[in-house]
Amino acid sequence: METKLWIVDNVGDIDTIYPQIEDAAKLLRENQVIAFPTETVYGLGANATSNIAVNKIFEAKGRPSDNPLIVHISEKKQLHDIVEVIPSVVDKLVEKFWPGPLTLILDKKNHGQTLSNKVTAELSTVAVRMPDHPIALALIKKSGLPIAAPSANTSGKPSPTLARHVQHDLNGKIAGIIDGGPTGVGLESTVLDCTGDIPVILRPGGVTKEQLEEVCGQVDVDKALLKEDEAPKSPGMKYTHYAPNAPLSIVKGNSEFIQELVSSQRQLGRKVGVMTTSENQDKYDADLILTCGSLSDLETVANQLYDTLRKFDEAGVDLIYSEAFPEDGIGQAIMNRLLKAAGHQVIIE
Ligand code: AMP
Ligand code: MG
Repeated sequence: METKLWIVDNVGDIDTIYPQIEDAAKLLRENQVIAFPTETVYGLGANATSNIAVNKIFEAKGRPSDNPLIVHISEKKQLHDIVEVIPSVVDKLVEKFWPGPLTLILDKKNHGQTLSNKVTAELSTVAVRMPDHPIALALIKKSGLPIAAPSANTSGKPSPTLARHVQHDLNGKIAGIIDGGPTGVGLESTVLDCTGDIPVILRPGGVTKEQLEEVCGQVDVDKALLKEDEAPKSPGMKYTHYAPNAPLSIVKGNSEFIQELVSSQRQLGRKVGVMTTSENQDKYDADLILTCGSLSDLETVANQLYDTLRKFDEAGVDLIYSEAFPEDGIGQAIMNRLLKAAGHQVIIE
């Protein structure tokens, strides 16, 4: 299949974007799959009401069919077509964080607009989000559909934060890619289960626990995020994710300790990569030293994490050591993704 590429460089306001995404919106209505930028990562979108369209997402990504997708909407009123009841806390969350990197898990509507069962992997609940990106909003609006969209990468690989990451993984497998430049946050949305009395974070992301607590008081964290052997409530969290080709280990220790690990592996003839920050980049001697942002501004790390992991793949290193990050604010999401990328390989000094 030929994968079309549309470059949208004027991302000022929605009206200037419409003519540039008309082709892509038409293909979505024809049940084709289109990759598009959001403020988190690039998404792989399809008509959420069509089994045929949604199946194409799973096929292109090689995603396990029991891992449900997030439904993306462009207007708050679309929520009423998808969910049964909107609890009052959800009204407050929507008011404060939408459009934005917060996905809400709610009870799925039984009647009315019928979502494909494949979107929700046959669950009685549905994940919904309104992305904060003018191209994503324009595309969803123009398509006139709720759009199911996971990240636009091959399942298991680091999520795409640039159109060229999508091309690398999915060229020839999907109908088109809208290149709108780099994404903003760089990590996926926070997934918040709102079906019980107390909201529960199933996946940390762009909206932090602290920010959520300001709006809805107590917020719990799924036990599986804190303990490795606990079964996650979010089906997708049990799979390998975000992993570079080379084995990755997170090292909780100082730079001298990390350098000793690097040196001993290089003596064995291995090509070693180090993932560090601008503060520490001069402290290493390795085959490839990449900075993924600044320790003093963790949002820069969130933004560059996946691109950096993909760069190690491009260079073909044999193994990678990464520094660990503080787990406050966005650091919680960073360490969640990094631990998964490393298959929970942690070396402690
Ligand atoms: P992705 O589409 O790759 O950003 O991943 C979406 C995440 O949301 C995965 O971890 C899914 O398992 C999770 N998710 C989607 N729908 C539900 C749902 N109904 N209940 C719990 N988790 C969900
Ligand atoms: Mg994903």
